[in-house]
Amino acid sequence: MQVRLQFLGTGASMGVPIIGCTCEVCTSTSAYNKRFRSSALVTIGAKKFLLDVGPDFRMQALRYGITGVDGIFLTHLHFDHIGGIDDLRIFYFRSKVKIPCVLSKETYAELQMRYYYLLNPVVDDFPVSAQVDFRILQNDFGEIDFEGIPLKYVTFFQKETKVTGFIFGKLAYISDIREYTDELIRALEGIDTLVISALRPLPSAMHFSIDEAVHFAQKVGARRTYFTHISHEIEHKKVSQTLPPDIHLAYDGLEIECLG
Ligand SMILES: [Zn+2]
Ligand SMILES: [Zn+2]
Repeated sequence: MQVRLQFLGTGASMGVPIIGCTCEVCTSTSAYNKRFRSSALVTIGAKKFLLDVGPDFRMQALRYGITGVDGIFLTHLHFDHIGGIDDLRIFYFRSKVKIPCVLSKETYAELQMRYYYLLNPVVDDFPVSAQVDFRILQNDFGEIDFEGIPLKYVTFFQKETKVTGFIFGKLAYISDIREYTDELIRALEGIDTLVISALRPLPSAMHFSIDEAVHFAQKVGARRTYFTHISHEIEHKKVSQTLPPDIHLAYDGLEIECLG
C-alpha cells in the first residue's frame, strides 16, 4: 500500500507564532518556524483523508488546495484537533455526502456533549452544520476497513484523555502521547515511518519532550521518524541539528511517502 502524508500543521495547541509572543521562534521569518495546529492529509490511491480537523483547517484547506475529503480520523477531542469541524460544511454542501469519521467511543461521547448540533444537524430540512457519519471504534486496539482502506488503530493517553493513533500500511501517526502501554509498542512493530508528537526540550505534563520522543522512536525502531505538534520553544534549524540522523522535525507542507 502506498501512503502519502502531507503535514497540514505541525504546531502545538497554540500554534506558532503564539499570539503576542516576541520570542526568537515566534518572530522568526523562516517558514520552518511557522506552524498551524497539527493535522495531516493522508492520500491512499485516489482517496484523501484528514487526520484531525483543527482550528486552522480553513487556512490549511486554502493553502494546500483541499476541496474535499473521503473521510476523517480524529485522534481525540482537544480543541486543537477538532476546532475546524464546522468548516467541513462546504464539503457536504457540494457533495451532499455525509463525511465518514473514525473516532473512539470516548471521543464520540465528548463530541456529543460539546458539539451537540453535529448530531442533530438538520433544521427545517437545511443542514446547519457539517454532516458527519460517525464510525465509532469499539476497542482500544484493532483493525478496520474504512472506505475500502484496511488500517489499524491504537490507543494511548494524555493524562486522563484516551487518544487514538492510526496505522496506514507501515506509516503510523501517533500524536498527543504522554502515557502508553507495551501493547502500543507491540502494535508499532515493523513500522517504517513513525510520526510522533514532541512538544519541546523541557518535560511537560501532557506531551513527550524531545528526549522522550527520541527514546520512544528508538524503542519503536522505525526506519525514520518525524516529530510534530511542536511548540515555539523549538527553532527548526537549531533543534534539527541535535537529532539522530533518522529523526526529523516535520514542518508545515512537508510531504512524505511510505511504501509497503
Ligand atoms: Zn494537541
Ligand atoms: Zn514564542
